Amino acid sequence: MNIPQSSFPRVVIIGGGFAGLAAAKGLEKQELQVVLIDKHNYHTFQPLLYQVATGGLEPDSIAFPLRKRFNDVDNFFFRLANVIKINPDKNEIETSIGNIDYDELIIATGSTTNFFGNTNIQKNTMEMKSVPQSLDIRSLILENFEEALLTSNLEERKALMNFVIVGGGPTGVELAGALAEMKKGILPKDYPDLDIRQMNINLIQSSGCILKGMSAKASEKAEDFLIKLGVNVWKNLRVLDYDGKIVTTNGEDNFRAETVIWAAGVKGEMVDGLQAECVIERAARIKVNEFNQVVNHPNIYAIGDVACMSSKENPYGHPMMAQPAIQQGKLVAKNILAKIFNKKQKAFIYNDKGSMATIGRNKAVVDLPKWKFQGVFAWFVWMFVHLFSLIGFRNRAIVFLNWVYNYIRFDRETRLIIRPFKKKNKLS
Ligand SMILES: Cc1cc2nc3c(=O)[nH]c(=O)nc-3n(C[C@H](O)[C@H](O)[C@H](O)COP(=O)(O)OP(=O)(O)OC[C@H]3O[C@@H](n4cnc5c(N)ncnc54)[C@H](O)[C@@H]3O)c2cc1C
Repeated sequence: MNIPQSSFPRVVIIGGGFAGLAAAKGLEKQELQVVLIDKHNYHTFQPLLYQVATGGLEPDSIAFPLRKRFNDVDNFFFRLANVIKINPDKNEIETSIGNIDYDELIIATGSTTNFFGNTNIQKNTMEMKSVPQSLDIRSLILENFEEALLTSNLEERKALMNFVIVGGGPTGVELAGALAEMKKGILPKDYPDLDIRQMNINLIQSSGCILKGMSAKASEKAEDFLIKLGVNVWKNLRVLDYDGKIVTTNGEDNFRAETVIWAAGVKGEMVDGLQAECVIERAARIKVNEFNQVVNHPNIYAIGDVACMSSKENPYGHPMMAQPAIQQGKLVAKNILAKIFNKKQKAFIYNDKGSMATIGRNKAVVDLPKWKFQGVFAWFVWMFVHLFSLIGFRNRAIVFLNWVYNYIRFDRETRLIIRPFKKKNKLS
């Protein structure tokens, strides 16, 4: 790996997402050697992936080069590699570019899409966890319209213009809203010879309400916003299968659709090597104590989406969201320093700052601990929070300019098929 041996303890961090980056920042400029390993050379701001998928933002504006963040930090090393296995007995990890030993290890590998074992759904639906996947969705949406324009088969045209989003959480809701806005403001202008009224956006949720983790008011209002935008919201309907043509459900309604986006579940992105007692199989998350230490391994920490800190109040652990990941990353850095310098580690207490989702132009829902509100003001709050959570001045400036431009011009200019996508080429 070409990393020098050092007299300082070595902390290896797997993953430069919200959690890993927060930990790395907390450990910089200390008497430590920090090695950050990620399979991408950039940090992804996942909350805005849906805007990339719907042509609202360019992909570069929501990604930030990991090397740049640390290029003036001594004793910091970034390596672009896929971590394959952890060998806790040897204090070593195996990666695609070789092995490396550690004194302290932080696992911050995040999460991946959960298809609940359905290989058909995995093979045929689109997922949106990374920048390349969002670009695939963007290409597929636009390719479908190009194809719909050419076909004289009415059923085929309808299927090409039928979009099914499975999962009524924030990702599904935001994506459905953005597609509805494309239908309203952009597609009729781009495809004047297609009857865009035939485009259908279906949001399918297996339970009785969307945005389940938010307040009842937020859920009701979001549904109301979506319906007004023309989205078909299907509740208490479970998708059972998708063969690439037909979405089969447990109800009477099946859907013929060329585009199905799966936003119905996530599970931890696991790395091999930890024993069964350290892992919660069902959720594929790593069991940690209140200091984020992995069960029976005091020098291995897991943070963010991949970690499950279960307690009486939170039997399933903290929500798989950016805030718990950032807060755990910050505290783990402090705790590792405390441990190395023989001080007491602090238990993690999640400070829930609230949650929010946007449905479209002037439409968002915000649940703060003491105040819940919806509508235009919520939309401004949503924009402000997301803008300032982005990493890097350039990214913030570009996103801001894009939003202003899109708002004034009712436009989404990056509707480009840069890298054509064919469903059979889907990477899993
Ligand atoms: C579409 C979408 C929208 C979202 N919207 C919101 C929102 O509005 N608000 C909110 O709070 N949360 C949102 N989330 C959730 C939030 O993004 C995650 O909770 C957060 O990213 C978790 O941070 P993390 O550091 O644990 O993982 P990530 O940010 O996913 O980072 C994991 C990192 O590990 C790397 N990695 C994984 N495996 C390996 C390996 N084997 N070897 C090397 N590197 C590896 C990955 O490349 C990645 O960089 C959203 C997520 C998605 C997908």
